Amino acid sequence: MKFEKIRIPPKGAKITVRNGVINVPDNPIIPFIEGDGIGPDIWKVTRKVIDAAVKKSYDSLKKIVWMQIHAGLSALQNYGNDDILPEDTLKAIREFKVAIKGPLTTPVGGFDYVCLVCAKEQNGKDGKRPEKCIKCGSEFITKRFRSLNVSLRQLLDLYACVRPVRWYKGVPSPVKRPDKLDIVVFRENTEDVYAGIEFQQDSPEAEKVINFLINIMGKNIREDSGIGIKPISVTGTKRLVRKAIDYAIQQNLPNVTLVHKGNIMKFTEGAFRDWGYELAKEEYRKEIITEQELWEKYDGRMPVDKILIKDRIADQIFQQVLLRPDEYSVLATPNLNGDYLSDACAAQVGGLGLAPGANIGDEIALFEATHGTAPKYTGMDKVNPSSLLLSGVLMLKYMGWNEAGIMIENALEKTIANKTVTYDLERQMEGAKKLKTSEFGDKIIKNM
Ligand code: NAP
Repeated sequence: MKFEKIRIPPKGAKITVRNGVINVPDNPIIPFIEGDGIGPDIWKVTRKVIDAAVKKSYDSLKKIVWMQIHAGLSALQNYGNDDILPEDTLKAIREFKVAIKGPLTTPVGGFDYVCLVCAKEQNGKDGKRPEKCIKCGSEFITKRFRSLNVSLRQLLDLYACVRPVRWYKGVPSPVKRPDKLDIVVFRENTEDVYAGIEFQQDSPEAEKVINFLINIMGKNIREDSGIGIKPISVTGTKRLVRKAIDYAIQQNLPNVTLVHKGNIMKFTEGAFRDWGYELAKEEYRKEIITEQELWEKYDGRMPVDKILIKDRIADQIFQQVLLRPDEYSVLATPNLNGDYLSDACAAQVGGLGLAPGANIGDEIALFEATHGTAPKYTGMDKVNPSSLLLSGVLMLKYMGWNEAGIMIENALEKTIANKTVTYDLERQMEGAKKLKTSEFGDKIIKNM
């Protein structure tokens, strides 16, 4: 495989996937994207902590061989010409199967250009590209673009957004028993509102659709409506639910809950539930029972070694994760429900600063911090690296390197419980000591 600018490290080997089974050599090459804004600060610490945990867990038997790839600012610096997601990067992730990334700048809209150093969105004079950023003076300005995070997910078909949410001792929380929540959300990443088709109110397109609905389909709809269409397919649903059940089997978890709003939208949300059950019965008959079967055949007593498949209506699950969180382990959701639910769960255990994430497809997995680039803190060695670090933990577990992953989790928990934390947690914890990003990383290594 030839790359334009990427240098493949000579000492590493490729992770491969055959028939859905991952094969990890002892010296896997793992591509990383540092990310924009605070990305380099949190990446440096994440890499150091992961390397230390792997060394302590396996001595010199295993070692990750990191390989830098580029997106966002570093791509602009290395490739130029507004090429902020180079073909090299996509090729490398496809080839090496497992990768990790920091946050990337995403323009919100309304301007023609964006500075990738400070994220300031701006227009040039007379429609021309600004030579320097009007805020920070940098020359790394590029044309407005759509989210690189979304592009990566779509171009690599990473259809499952995986968000484990659990509490670490000592982290400030708004609920009484944050320890009861230990959930992994599998959110569908390619359809529902992500593939939504919209027509603006009063546009010729909206008018056409409304006429079609009223005159041809015989539906009732106000003529001054905006229109949104959200597709949910059998294919999209089944492959997502399959990933969720596979995960529950691998990690020995007791249940998978299909989350939907099927009482209102029968042919999308309700169908998500039906297709989910259908897949579970078709492909995992020996491993699962449904909640209906639990009562009809087992008198409510859960047989050992089976996974319970249940479903909950979306509004109800928000209550459930607050009132009875310990009854849920894996949630499988369509795109929009999962979006709300992952953040609501994260809020219970300390917020997004500590929430890891991954986007996973049939063969490829891309692990990432869930927060943004927080540009005002760039280069200050100040912010909390835990989200990216815990994404690294998720990656180690995905690779089957559980010992190293658990070692990091335990050391992180100890570091927070000792009240040695970065500014974001320090301001919420009485008597805590404020550490820089790098100092926090060193403390975690010491606590391993
Ligand atoms: P943000 O970067 O997530 O930052 C918002 C606030 O969250 C920060 O000001 C800070 O709060 C806190 N925060 C974020 N990361 C933190 C960390 N590691 N440690 C401690 N506190 C942290 O959101 P934003 O300012 O709305 O977005 C900035 C840029 O990032 C935008 O271009 C956005 O589109 C992009 N973004 C990218 C991703 C991604 O790559 N996955 C995700 C979201 C947003 P305080 O100010 O209170 O200290």
